[in-house]
This record gives sequence, C-alpha cells and structure tokens, in this order.
Amino acid sequence: PELFAPERVNSKGFDLTDTPTLNALDTARELYRNAQWHAAPLLAAEAAPEAAQPVDNPFLPTDSPGTVAHASAADVESALSTTKPWDATPAERGAILSKAADLYEENYGALFALLAREAGKTPNDAVAELREAVDFLRYYGANAPSIPPAGAFTCISPWNFPLAIFSGQVAAALAAGNAVLAKPADQTPLIAHEAVKLLHEAGVPRDALQLLPGSGATVGAALTSDPRVNGVAFTGSTATALRIRATMADNMAPGAPLIAETGGLNAMIVDSTALPEQAVTAIVESAFQSAGQRCSALRCLYVQEDIAENLLEMLTGAMNELSLNDPWLLSTDSGPVIDEAARRGIADHIAQAQSDGRVLFQMPTPQTGTFIAPTLIKINGIGDLEREIFGPVLHVATFKSNELDVVIDAINATGYGLTFGLQTRIDDRVQHVSDRVKAGNIYVNRNQIGAIVGSQPFGGEGLSGTGPKAGGPHYLARFAAVQMEDAGT
Ligand code: GLU
Repeated sequence: PELFAPERVNSKGFDLTDTPTLNALDTARELYRNAQWHAAPLLAAEAAPEAAQPVDNPFLPTDSPGTVAHASAADVESALSTTKPWDATPAERGAILSKAADLYEENYGALFALLAREAGKTPNDAVAELREAVDFLRYYGANAPSIPPAGAFTCISPWNFPLAIFSGQVAAALAAGNAVLAKPADQTPLIAHEAVKLLHEAGVPRDALQLLPGSGATVGAALTSDPRVNGVAFTGSTATALRIRATMADNMAPGAPLIAETGGLNAMIVDSTALPEQAVTAIVESAFQSAGQRCSALRCLYVQEDIAENLLEMLTGAMNELSLNDPWLLSTDSGPVIDEAARRGIADHIAQAQSDGRVLFQMPTPQTGTFIAPTLIKINGIGDLEREIFGPVLHVATFKSNELDVVIDAINATGYGLTFGLQTRIDDRVQHVSDRVKAGNIYVNRNQIGAIVGSQPFGGEGLSGTGPKAGGPHYLARFAAVQMEDAGT
C-alpha cells in the first residue's frame, strides 16, 4: 500500500540549539529532579500486586526515581479474563491516540526526567525518544484500519526505548482495534506506567489497555503462553523471541502472529573515497550514542586498508571529545549502560579482548554509575563476533580494495540483517552494495540509527526480526485477525 494519511506530520521535537527552548525544557524537567513515582498494574479490575520494590537510576546509586509493584499471578489472571477488544470506530481510535500524543507532548517535563533518571537517557536521546513515541501514536492512529482485530495482544517492550517502543507496540495493537496486555521491561516500569496513564486519560478504555509490570520469567511467560492471547509483539533478544515463538506454538491458535524486532550485528563499510569527517561523525553517532544500546547501533566497522590509519586517528580524536557524565546534564553525550548486569557482560567481553591484545583504544571510565567507556576492538572480520554486544563497543576490521564482495558475504553470513551503513563517493558502489547486503535498513553517507516513523520504516530480516517494519505501511495488517488483502481493504 501507499503511505496513507499523507497529511499527518511528524513531531517537531525540541530544538536544543535554541536558548529559550532549552531553558523551558530545563525548567519543566527540574520540577521532577527529585520526584518519586510509583508503578503498579493498571487493570480493568482492582489489582492485588506484589510488594513494592525500588527502581534504580543507572547513573546515581543514591537516587531512586520511585518504586514498582509487580503484577501478581492473580493480576495476570484478572487481566486475561477482563480483556476486551477496543469497541470504537477507526476514526475514534485515531482521535484518541492522537489526543494521547498531545498529552505526551504536554507532559514532556516528567517524561524527560524519567527518561534520564530511570533509563539513563541524555537530553538529546530523550527528545528523539519522545518524538518517536508521539509519531507512532499519530501515525498508527491516523492509519487505524477497519479490519477485524486479532483479539488480545501481549506487548513486551525493551528498556532501551522505554517510551517509544513501548508506545509504538501498544499504539499499533490498539489502532487495529485489539485489547492490549502490556508488559514493560523490568528496568523501566515507571515510564510505561506514566504512558498508560496518559493513554487512559486520552480515552483508551481500561479493559482495552492493561499494564502488567513484572519480570519476563513470570509475567512475560504467563502472557505469552495463554490461549486467550491472540498475538504477541516483542522487541528484545533473538533468543527470547525464539523462546516466545515456541511457547506460542504450544499454547495458542496456529495463526497467532508474533511480531518480533530483535538484535543485530550491524556493519558499516567505509571505502577509501569516503569523506573522512562525515564518516567519523556517522561512526561516533552510530556506535556510541545512547551508549550503544540500540538494536540499530553500529557493531562492526570495515575500513579500507589505505585509509584505516588516518580514519582511526580521527575517530579516537573524536571519541576523546565525548562527555561521559550524568545523563541529566545538557552537556552529556553518553550516559551509563542500563544496569550492573549489562555493565558486567560488556566488561567481560572487553576484558577478553584486552587479554588477547586486541583493544585499540578505550576512553577513561567515569567513577559513578554503570559506565562502559567507548572502546575500539580490533577483529579480523565480523565472523569473529559470536554475539551482539549491547553497549558502546565498536569492532574494527580492515579490507583491501579487491575484497568488497568478501566483506559483503561475511556480513550476510552472520544471519542477522538489521541496519547497515555505507560511506563512499562512488555512485555505482552504492547500488552494488545495497543490492547485495541483506539488511532491513541501509543508510548511505550518514549515521545508521534513528529511523523516522512514516518515512524510514524500521525492522530487520533473518535473525533480526519477523517484520513487518515498525512505522511503515505494512505493520498494522499483522495486528488484524486476517491479512489486509483478505479483508478487502
Ligand atoms: N528504531 C531505533 C533506531 O532506528 C532502534 C530501535 C531499537 O534499538 O530497538 O535507532
């Protein structure tokens, strides 16, 4: 289909180079510098949750933004037995989702404060995340289809985009008329709770949208193994997606869809004709923004041998200029990774590379918070990587001028296919490479993160996900009982 609803516009966001905007943003956030939130199940019936526990700030161990009470087994049962598809016309659903987008924008002070204190997001990251969340609400709302809903959808979202991906999954399922059972990531229940409160305030009925904070092992497992659930949207690791699919196969109707967006071993090729300054900016943003905690982030850089020395010198120079600090501060480029378990997993990988003598460069590590300092590790090729390292670690390989196709084959052989970047000034090469690399999102002469809803549908192939792409024209059809073409739309 065409990209319908062409009159819809994306959020303008906040121009952080404009001083009045910046001051207003700072004042709005400051009200929530020490605020305390409490997340709990939001159900159609009264909840009987587990005891409350503190939520962590990944930068400051002494700051907790609030507490969370997980959904109990009784809460999960209550949600499953009261869930009811959204009984409203597509136009009404669209209007309510668009109203929710307005409420998100009005409440930006609290949301930015939460994004910093609960998820370690810098102001830049927070602005981009709110924009994306608002865009998803308006985009899916404006395209709400008149097709039969699947029924009840479980939405399981990650901590790396606790507002945008959470809202995107929920908005898509709701726009198609489903009831949603939303389980946010363990680390970021407070933002999800705020989001659901705003969606309810906008007019989404409580039996069409219920929030169930809790762990994957308990709440997540229960919500993906119940025959009353008709489909699952999941963003997270490939291993978890495969487990969910197996559980669904054993428990749900054969047609129940799994819409999964998973990991990537994303590469960028920089050839000797690339503009070095442009390439370095794109590399730093792709590998280290959001502390490398994006599925789309650059993990493996292939530099043509002739320019490698020069490019790496410029790259380390640019890395040295990054400010690693409290994500609350406007001057911070990159914050900590999400928690101590994540830090340890990444640190182990770096320690192994260190003992093999393969660490090319590492920035100094800040003393507070679960930081991983941006690191460059030398590898022979992408085939050396056994798993996705979800943090600010960039692996670097070189290639000779006659090895371009060998590199492409190696990238495709990983089985992942999420994002890919190319830096070159040879037009024919752009065509040659993008025809061959198997990746959902290919970016040329720019960074490879931050896909824009409605114009850059986002999603991968192979081990990177099921499709259809989020923020694109095919996504909503998967949330329906039948496929678009069968519904005669
Ligand atoms: N959509 C995001 C981007 O383009 C990445 C989503 C993710 O990390 O899951 O950078």
